Amino acid sequence: MEQALGKCMVCGEQATFTCKKAGSLNCWTTLCDRDLCKLLHLYIAHPNLIAEISKLENELKVEPVKILVGKINQPSITDVVIYKAGFLIPYEGGGFLWTTLCVHETLSGLEEDLEGKLKDANEREVMYTDQFFNSKIPSGLIEGLIS
Ligand SMILES: [Zn+2]
Ligand SMILES: [Zn+2]
Repeated sequence: MEQALGKCMVCGEQATFTCKKAGSLNCWTTLCDRDLCKLLHLYIAHPNLIAEISKLENELKVEPVKILVGKINQPSITDVVIYKAGFLIPYEGGGFLWTTLCVHETLSGLEEDLEGKLKDANEREVMYTDQFFNSKIPSGLIEGLIS
């Protein structure tokens, strides 16, 4: 089995196991033993496992990543605003990756969802923006929000 694993999808080193967490699809991402790789993978692929994410942040003594609430474009449906809450992960080479924790058609609905999800989580900052963003946010675009 080991020889077929290939590279860690986060850092590119030799992978040591396959993530078998179930989401809408089973994951099958190959990862190495580094907890930081595991944490990054959880933020991106399994943001709903927020209790596990918080536990890992505590163990690694890393600052809990912030959550951004903003709007996403829905190019196929004009004039429909979709709100999204997601982790804001500093991206290699600058900028941020905005992962998807929950989406909703109304801000109040989104806040309700988010509150439920954050129950078992670390205290973490939630920031709000009126802007539309894609999942990759160049640092220049978001500088006003994050100091
Ligand atoms: Zn790795
Ligand atoms: Zn996974």
